Amino acid sequence: MSQAQNFDVVVIGAGPAGYHAAIRAAQLGMKVACIDVALGKDGKPALGGTCLRVGCIPSKALLDSSRQFWNMGHLFDQHGIRFEKPAIDVAKMVARKDAIVKQFTGGIAALFKANKITAFHGFGQLQPGNVVKVKQHDGSEVELKGTNVILAAGSDSIELPFAKFDGEHIVDNVGALDFTAVPKRLGVIGAGVIGLELGSVWNRLGAEVTLLEGLPTFLAAADAEVSKVAAREFKKQGLDIRLGCQVSNTEVKQDGVHVHYTDATGAAQELVVDKLLVAVGRRAATSGLLAEGTGVQLDERGRIVVDAHCHTGVDGVWAVGDCVRGPMLAHKGFEEGIAVAELIAGLPGHVNFDTIPWVIYTEPEIAWVGKTEEQLKAEGIPYKAGSFPFAAVGRAVAMAEPAGFVKVLAHAETDTILGMHLVGANVSELVHEGVLAMEFKGSADDLARICHAHPSLSEAVHDAAMAVHKRAIHKAN
Ligand code: FAD
Ligand code: NAD
Repeated sequence: MSQAQNFDVVVIGAGPAGYHAAIRAAQLGMKVACIDVALGKDGKPALGGTCLRVGCIPSKALLDSSRQFWNMGHLFDQHGIRFEKPAIDVAKMVARKDAIVKQFTGGIAALFKANKITAFHGFGQLQPGNVVKVKQHDGSEVELKGTNVILAAGSDSIELPFAKFDGEHIVDNVGALDFTAVPKRLGVIGAGVIGLELGSVWNRLGAEVTLLEGLPTFLAAADAEVSKVAAREFKKQGLDIRLGCQVSNTEVKQDGVHVHYTDATGAAQELVVDKLLVAVGRRAATSGLLAEGTGVQLDERGRIVVDAHCHTGVDGVWAVGDCVRGPMLAHKGFEEGIAVAELIAGLPGHVNFDTIPWVIYTEPEIAWVGKTEEQLKAEGIPYKAGSFPFAAVGRAVAMAEPAGFVKVLAHAETDTILGMHLVGANVSELVHEGVLAMEFKGSADDLARICHAHPSLSEAVHDAAMAVHKRAIHKAN
């Protein structure tokens, strides 16, 4: 192996966290290398991580395709639109998704080139002394020495020992984004974010979808009122969500995958499906990432231990994104990547965990920022709540999408906004009013006094903020 090549910053992983770190460091004048092992469906290197290849972007492409299809059968009639029976061409839908993935992964390669970032395609391993050994896909090895090294290895699907992925009958997100036909019966273990989003895709296209959730509570992380409305809407759409289910075994047989579980009453049950999606969470992809003696610590869940500034405690070694503590969200990784590049450059990099938005791209969409009512009660924080239903918002009714509501939670004494919880059409966009207000330490009164366009869905945010002080105009307070 030739002598190590020197860089100011070496990034392992070109997902959302890694590519943001690499590009920001390059913008700040540093010489940057970024290593990624991933290959696209065409077998060629593909930058952008889980998010661009098999996560956020392809799932939203399929969610949008399937939503158009669902609307044809379930919404258009209300608008007086008639047509022959809709049909879905799954191959074309998946090809569209693949083209979007290719466009965006190629976009990262172009951004690397424009920012003079050197990309290495292979597996990177941190050695002691901030050296990264890269086993490239062509079999060769290179060593890169970084004044700083940023670990951004991301995460992988958790596999259950009794439901091993076979890529055909039992799959994770990767398989469920690439079904070649609509399965007649789709089983999902885990009614979390992936289960709900990908379950919705195939349900909308005609699959009978059954979700087996281990916990007794549906979407426990969301505000309870939001979860309740979402559960009701999902049921109407035909999603069969069974709570408190403990899966003990699966068997692939001639007639499908047999899933053995006990239900919430403890009774033994069997579910037979054509495809089984296992979506029970993700774990940090730190296996093989660290050679002996680097000094970088892993916690009990295999995540890299970092401080509030994403520093590992080893001189010049940082870690960001899904491979460290905190929510496994692309935008959380974006912000950490940027913050670390700025800290390396001597600037004040910071990520505010209190204002990271969550969005679940189901129909209706679910979104929130800040604390739930349940958290505020548990923490003994005095609060006032104001909520407003989309059924009373002219724009939502005109769109024939009246389900859901917006809820604003504000401190009972200071009126500072502590949380915003939304379920309804386009709330993935509306939640950012709450993010912005909270980031600026705004109050419910501030939000209530801001002029919102009429008619718009954002009026639900406005009226919810007014409702905190019992002065919503369009409902009885
Ligand atoms: P990753 O995106 O996982 O990227 C890490 C990269 O590092 C990978 O390309 C990997 O190949 C590479 N790598 C790992 N180890 C090495 C090594 N040793 N050497 C070289 N390369 C290595 N989040 C959202 O915010 N919104 C969404 O809508 C959303 N939808 C999702 C849908 C699905 C189906 C899934 C699975 C996830 C979704 N997520 C979403 C989560 C999001 O994808 C992750 O939070 C995000 O990708 C994490 O970014 P990251 O850079 O930390 O890691
Ligand atoms: P998740 O944590 O959202 O949901 C997993 C669900 O599986 C939970 O409800 C959990 O109680 C349940 N579960 C765990 N073990 C089980 C078992 N043995 N039997 C039955 N149920 C079980 O995880 P996910 O859906 O796999 O998604 C992983 C992560 O990816 C998410 O946490 C999120 O951070 C990210 N993601 C985000 C988005 C988004 O932002 N829209 C979309 C998809 C994924």
